Amino acid sequence: MGSNAERMRKAVYPGSFDPVTNGHLEIIRRAANLFDKLVVLVSFNGAKNACFTPEERVEMLHKVCYDIPNVEIDSFDGLLVDYFSEHGCDIIIKGLRAMSDFEYEFQMAHINKHLCERAETVFLCADSQSTYLSSSMVKQIASLGGDISAFVPASIVGDINKRFDKERK
Ligand code: ADP
Repeated sequence: MGSNAERMRKAVYPGSFDPVTNGHLEIIRRAANLFDKLVVLVSFNGAKNACFTPEERVEMLHKVCYDIPNVEIDSFDGLLVDYFSEHGCDIIIKGLRAMSDFEYEFQMAHINKHLCERAETVFLCADSQSTYLSSSMVKQIASLGGDISAFVPASIVGDINKRFDKERK
């Protein structure tokens, strides 16, 4: 076998994670099983209006990924392909919930490949339990005082509720 087979395969899973949900965590666990190392990358250059600071999002990710040894959490506010190249990544991971995700992610995958020839994207299909789940839904429910415990890991339910309790006061 060539040296390629022995090389560590490092994947990067970028997203807003504002906040991380059970859907994200399921993709993280599966991707961590497929690659030697997985970097979960909090990206905050997007047009989305974030609710949590990048530091808070990183902290929540640390809490929910504590038991996955080959996962590293990082944040970045530049172009994903720049991070990809500078940190020696091999694969970009994306989760796909429905056709609505597909169109945007398909476009992003092509653009990333255009910007960096090495940047291959691997799509993992959301499991049936979380295919309807999004960070925005979680925020909407929490902002109205609803129960989010079925949608996010137990260790961060308090952090999310605290933010919205403050806003409701
Ligand atoms: P959101 O759309 O919930 O704000 P992000 O921007 O953080 O999510 O998404 C990061 C990545 O995770 C994207 O590839 C997105 O398609 C994927 N993802 C988001 N929610 C889920 C889910 N419930 N199941 C699987 N993948 C998901």
